[in-house]
Amino acid sequence: MTKYGVAIVGGGIAGLTAAIYAAKAGKRTIVLEKQEQLGGRAITNKKQGVYFNLGAHALYKGEAYETFRELGLRLNGSTPSIDAYGMWKEQILPLPTNASSFIQTPLLSWGGKLELAKWFIKLRKMDTSVWNKISIRDWIETQLNDPMLRNVFYALLRTSTYVLAPELHAAGPALKQLQRALKGVLYLDKGWGTLVEELRELAVQQGVELVTGCKVAAVEHQDQKVHSILCEGGTRIEASNVILTTPPSISHKLVPHADQTALDSWTKQAIPVTVACLDIGLRKLPIHEHQFIYGLDQPIFFTHQSRDGKPRPAILSDDGTQVISLFKYQGQQTDAAKDEGELERVLDVVQPGWRNELVIRQFLPKMTVVHDFPHIKRMEDPGPAVTEIEGLYVAGDWASHGELLVDASVASAKRAVSQLLNTREEIK
Ligand SMILES: Cc1cc2nc3c(=O)[nH]c(=O)nc-3n(C[C@H](O)[C@H](O)[C@H](O)COP(=O)(O)OP(=O)(O)OC[C@H]3O[C@@H](n4cnc5c(N)ncnc54)[C@H](O)[C@@H]3O)c2cc1C
Repeated sequence: MTKYGVAIVGGGIAGLTAAIYAAKAGKRTIVLEKQEQLGGRAITNKKQGVYFNLGAHALYKGEAYETFRELGLRLNGSTPSIDAYGMWKEQILPLPTNASSFIQTPLLSWGGKLELAKWFIKLRKMDTSVWNKISIRDWIETQLNDPMLRNVFYALLRTSTYVLAPELHAAGPALKQLQRALKGVLYLDKGWGTLVEELRELAVQQGVELVTGCKVAAVEHQDQKVHSILCEGGTRIEASNVILTTPPSISHKLVPHADQTALDSWTKQAIPVTVACLDIGLRKLPIHEHQFIYGLDQPIFFTHQSRDGKPRPAILSDDGTQVISLFKYQGQQTDAAKDEGELERVLDVVQPGWRNELVIRQFLPKMTVVHDFPHIKRMEDPGPAVTEIEGLYVAGDWASHGELLVDASVASAKRAVSQLLNTREEIK
């Protein structure tokens, strides 16, 4: 039987990234993915010529972007301008992001505008880690004076992190993400599926074995050492190291006696973040001017990812169909019909008559954006090693050490491989 140096459970961005780095270091590497396709939550579905991610995805210029560049990925796409609007009592008003909107917008008082300008300047250079231990709620309520500016910051921080829990969300990482958002994000042509495909190609070039349609049932260990993976159907794969990129609750189930390991506390402390997503393809837009709209009195966001103009739009359809996306950020209780109705009502305000132009729509009532995030109740940052079992590691968006979203997936994947390489001399 072939023995692998590294077996990776899950073929999303974390799994593929870990596989590439492990193989580059000379490890015999295998990825086991339960779905028939790779990519996890980063897949893109093509429907009637329109490329729909599982909800709009923006690549921030963080750990993931740096890593993909280091790996030589093309990352074709475009960076939208940061000009944006706020929605307040069903009115759409410019946010003061440039000279003209600064002067003209009635959204903020002059005091509020000056305070915003001061914070935008300060944020660019600020060491956000000094705010790691306090919540966004505490940061906003103690640092900002203008009441409407507080609403603006709640919306900006929520949108750049997807988290609707200001009383729990650690301010430092969220402010760092906002710093990155202000530098501009990347919308990828033809969606994040292209990113998955580029990673897949690279993994194959490095000799990684990629197995889809293989659901892992257990990670077997003995004498506190990993030795194999058992797949549903009974196939057993021998491996000296295993990296789990599955959600914390699934990782816990896959490992016998996980309750005696750190996986137990990582699972208990995890707070998943979910959103309802409405993605729409329209023949043409009833109203052209809005790229981003932030809900200021409701937790929603609108983005027109394929917007015409300069810089060139991201290519998200084969025939010029315009692609817009909306999110409703969710708390603990969710109601699919209510969320869909709310998002449609926002669209009625932002793009009146959109139904007459409809080509295709996708509604995803409850997508898990991340399985955990840096919150102030966290006892410890997860991973990379599950120290009680030699050779067992975790990665994924929940195994964050301060990073957010896909940056956490990629950074944790690299941490797992780096620690694994430093820990044991394995077979190749
Ligand atoms: C609506 C939405 C919007 C988002 N927007 C952004 C954004 O704008 N910017 C950003 O940076 N990030 C964004 N994200 C987050 C980003 O998509 C995820 O962080 C990233 O794709 C997660 O990758 P991962 O590899 O950690 O996890 P996953 O993609 O979930 O990969 C885990 C894999 O494990 C597999 N698996 C599970 N159980 C088993 C098993 N028993 N055996 C084998 N395989 C198994 C799953 O099928 C899956 O493929 C968004 C996510 C969503 C849902």
